[in-house]
Amino acid sequence: MTSEPLMRMRLRVEQDIFVVRQLGREVARTVGLESQDQTRVATALSEVARVLLAVGLHAEVTFTVPAIGVPSLLVTMAHPGAGAAARVAGQLQQVGRLVDTMEVDEGESGTVVRMSRRLPPGAPLLTPERMSEIRAGLSQHVPGTPLDELAVQNQQLIAALDEVRAQRDDLARLNAELEETNRGVMALYNQLSQELEETNRGVVALYAELDEKSAQLRAASEAKSRFLANVSHELRAPVTAIIGLGRLLTDSGSDELTGEQHRQVELIRNSASDLLTLVNDLLDLAKAEAGRIEPHWSEVDLKAMFGQLRGTLRPLATRPEVDFVVEEPAVPALRSDEVLLAQVLRNLLTNALKFTESGSVRLSVAPAGSDIEFVVADTGTGIPPELHERIFEEFYQVPGSKPVSGKGTGLGLPYARRLASILGGGLRVDSTPGTGSVFTLRLPTAS
Ligand code: ADP
Repeated sequence: MTSEPLMRMRLRVEQDIFVVRQLGREVARTVGLESQDQTRVATALSEVARVLLAVGLHAEVTFTVPAIGVPSLLVTMAHPGAGAAARVAGQLQQVGRLVDTMEVDEGESGTVVRMSRRLPPGAPLLTPERMSEIRAGLSQHVPGTPLDELAVQNQQLIAALDEVRAQRDDLARLNAELEETNRGVMALYNQLSQELEETNRGVVALYAELDEKSAQLRAASEAKSRFLANVSHELRAPVTAIIGLGRLLTDSGSDELTGEQHRQVELIRNSASDLLTLVNDLLDLAKAEAGRIEPHWSEVDLKAMFGQLRGTLRPLATRPEVDFVVEEPAVPALRSDEVLLAQVLRNLLTNALKFTESGSVRLSVAPAGSDIEFVVADTGTGIPPELHERIFEEFYQVPGSKPVSGKGTGLGLPYARRLASILGGGLRVDSTPGTGSVFTLRLPTAS
């Protein structure tokens, strides 16, 4: 490619407007511009030529394909008259739209109009040989008469009209398609919103059913608690009577019993006292579940409570292999219900002592963030991880786990957890079989 002009011509008379138009189209065609672009360039050129000739004097037209930059056809029209740039520029505003760039400058030698149109990507490569060929071809170019040019222009006009009609048809077709698509979208939207409405109705119905079911469950659970509370209460009196009667029978003031009779009465008394424990536990749990336990909030002296637990539980820690430690409380006092709190800790400590053969059972308390944590840790049998939640279910006992001492009802932990929640806190376990268990009661410091 080269910057050497492809062609030059001089505008002198009005007829040259046709000549420059023809020449422009020819140059545009030979450098590879498409047919529509050829017309654009030709029209732009004739318009510029018309405006410049109207200003007066002659103008020099140069066609170039610059050697560097994006391949494009550059047309320069230099007019020797000075001071016309602003006027020319004003008249060429519309024409500028036919090409990619159009500038009107006021140079030293007069007014210069420059315009360019980019060559399409598929245009043949403009090698120096090809450029020479084009130059030679253009120099042979014989301009047609204005009549020829008129015929060409008419043809172009007809082609342009055809194209406009085709575009209008295309537009109408597109509009029709768009309308149809819109109708489809609307139908889909209606269907979707109908489905959504139906789904919503289903969800609402489901929720109503769930509410109803949970109300039924609540009623059933309340009925169960009431039943348990009543039955336990009714059972307590006869069981206590049996224990009393048994005591009377074995009393030194009563008639002498045979050895066998003595043994049997003892059996009855033991069974009755197991039964009483169960009945009492059931009654406690039923009361707690029925929401009939109202905590009495007060400032609890933890040092005193720990001392009491140490004293009352020491008799249960009979095995010399087990170190029973109630630490000095790291928190002196807490606002809570003293009786319920002591009950939870007693349950946990009793369990720990029941399931620890050797090692230690330890109670401690420490702040945990804004809460407070009581920890009962033992080195006993431990509980498999998959049962950590099950042991809080009523009557659940870890299969095969035998207490080292004492017995159980399976109600201690559910009751303890209930009390923990009544106190505004929670109870959790962390335990490894063979290593031991850690039960943590977490309570808020402000009630
Ligand atoms: P129980 O009256 O049987 O002690 P709980 O509800 O207090 O009833 O405990 C349920 C079960 O959880 C116990 O039977 C036991 O299998 C297990 N368990 C509770 N505490 C411990 C512990 N510290 N170490 C090992 N197992 C425990």
